[in-house]
Amino acid sequence: MGKKIGFIGLGIMGKPMAKNLLKAGYSLVVFDINADAVNEVVAAGAEKGDSIKDVAQKSEIIITMLPNSPHVKQVVLGENGVLEGANPGAILVDMSSIAPLVSKEVSDAVKKKDIVMIDAPVSGGEPKAIDGTLSIMVGGPADAFEQVKDILEVMGGSVVRVGEIGSGNTTKLANQIIVALNIAAMSEAMVLATKAGVDPESVYQAIRGGLAGSTVLDAKVPLVLDRNFKPGFRIELHIKDLMNAIDTGHEVGVPLPLTTQIMEIMQALKVDGKAKDDHGGVVQFYEKLAQIEVKRSSK
Ligand code: NAD
Repeated sequence: MGKKIGFIGLGIMGKPMAKNLLKAGYSLVVFDINADAVNEVVAAGAEKGDSIKDVAQKSEIIITMLPNSPHVKQVVLGENGVLEGANPGAILVDMSSIAPLVSKEVSDAVKKKDIVMIDAPVSGGEPKAIDGTLSIMVGGPADAFEQVKDILEVMGGSVVRVGEIGSGNTTKLANQIIVALNIAAMSEAMVLATKAGVDPESVYQAIRGGLAGSTVLDAKVPLVLDRNFKPGFRIELHIKDLMNAIDTGHEVGVPLPLTTQIMEIMQALKVDGKAKDDHGGVVQFYEKLAQIEVKRSSK
């Protein structure tokens, strides 16, 4: 089917996203520095790329799903990278969550070789990556977006173009502020209810249908009650997003007082050895302060 897709970055998110493209009948050539991840996606039907450059040479559309701005710069602009390999006319779709300014920088650099870049970060976490129901926020030229929309719709339940290059990542920063502060509010509230002597599971069931109900509440409270902090979305990655939000706020002149607080709470958890926990693990910060644990009454 259709165009050959290169996929670079097969982590918690990239692996299920690539597998969904294979299931939909697309032909994929893949690369990651983690050989196990590559082997798993090759077993699902992808071709193994010898290098990033090799993947780019063989693809009309190149998707990247990497941790942060420096990784995207390295993979795209570095030696033996995407830019060296890609053919003029190729479309680079960076689905990583990175600083909007870096999206613009990388886009300007690849334009010189007639490569168009789109930033298309996602929200929804591993479960929605597996289901192919991610929310995808797209920045970049409208005509390039039209050419990759079908592919994005395989991975996403909602695919919305919000503006020019960088605006996908600006939207993602807004998303990450809202998610982080929701998790903090949920944690603070659940610790209060538990220490005041009310069963936290009953509190959750009582409030989830009202105004306090949210996707975050439904996704994270059951995991907290099970004491399951396996990522999902790692605290260290959320710190990265909030730092990008704070930097962007400083660039454009927007103070972000609450974002700074939750970022420092996550920083405290990192110091406490919990950087690789799921971001639902923020509850542990409040639990330590209050000397109580939020869990099912049967546990
Ligand atoms: P991850 O760390 O699990 O995966 C990143 C992958 O990139 C790894 O497999 C790593 O080996 C690979 N990689 C790193 N440097 C590389 C290089 N130079 N060349 C080739 N491969 C390289 O991270 P993830 O959770 O999959 O997240 C990826 C992006 O998606 C991040 O920007 C993250 O913020 C964002 N995101 C994650 C989630 C989530 O719930 N995990 C949700 C939404 C968005």
